[in-house]
Amino acid sequence: MKSNTLVISLHDVSPQTQAIVTQQLEELRLIGITRCSLLVIPDYHHHFLISQFPSFVTWLEEQAHHGHEIVLHGYHHLRAPSTNDRASKRLMTEFYTAGEGEFYDLDYEQASRLLKMGKGVLQQVGCDTSQLFGFIAPAWLLAKEAEHAVADEGFLYTTRLKGIIDLRKKPSRFFPSQSMVYSVRSAWRRIVSLIWNELLFQYATYQKWPLLRVSLHPVDWKYPAIQSHLLYSIKRAMKDRTPMTYESWLRSV
Ligand SMILES: [Zn+2]
Repeated sequence: MKSNTLVISLHDVSPQTQAIVTQQLEELRLIGITRCSLLVIPDYHHHFLISQFPSFVTWLEEQAHHGHEIVLHGYHHLRAPSTNDRASKRLMTEFYTAGEGEFYDLDYEQASRLLKMGKGVLQQVGCDTSQLFGFIAPAWLLAKEAEHAVADEGFLYTTRLKGIIDLRKKPSRFFPSQSMVYSVRSAWRRIVSLIWNELLFQYATYQKWPLLRVSLHPVDWKYPAIQSHLLYSIKRAMKDRTPMTYESWLRSV
C-alpha cells in the first residue's frame, strides 16, 4: 500500500443528480477508483426529498454496499437570504456559493435541528446511520456554533476547503489539506480553475502532502476540459497515493 493517500468526494448527490453521479462513479471505476465519499443532500432545494425517490434509495444502498461512504451534506443545500445581510456577507453567500451556503451562519439549535432531520431521513429510508460518520456543509461553510452541533450529533469529522476537522476528541484537531475543486459558473472561472487546480496539484505533489483531496461536483461533467483535468489529476495522483474514503482516512490517523 502506498503511504500517501487520496480522497475523492462526490458532492451534491441527490435524486436530481443521480444519473450524472452514476456516470462519474463509472468513469472513476474505469481508472481504478472504487471507493469515494458521497455527499448526500436529504432534500435538495425542497424538491428532492430522497424518501420520495425509491429508485434513488436503492441505488444509494448499492453504492454503500460497493464500499462508497455516505456523508451527510446539508439538508436543503440552500441558504435563506436575509434582508439584514451586510454587503460582505452577501458577497460570500451569493457570489461565492450562489446562495447554497446553508450552514454558513446557523446557530447551534438551527444546525442541530437540520442535522437531526438529515439523519432522520436517512434512517427512514433504511440507511444504516451507525455507518454515518461525516457531515460536510455545503460549500464547506460551517459556522463555529454549527460545528459544535455537528460534533454533538455524533459525527466524527467534518471538512473545510482547506482541511479536515477530526471531531473524535475535544478539542477537535485540524489536518491541513486544501481540496482541489473547480468553479465552473462562467468561462473565466473555468479557465482560472484549470490553472489554479493544476498549480495546487503540482504543489501538493512537490510538497509530498500526505493527503490529496479532490472534490467533484455534478456540474463539472458538463465541461469536457474540467472533466478531463479531474480524471487526469486523479490518474497521476494514483501513482503514489492510495485512494480511500474520508472515513478510512480518519481511521488511519
Ligand atoms: Zn454541495
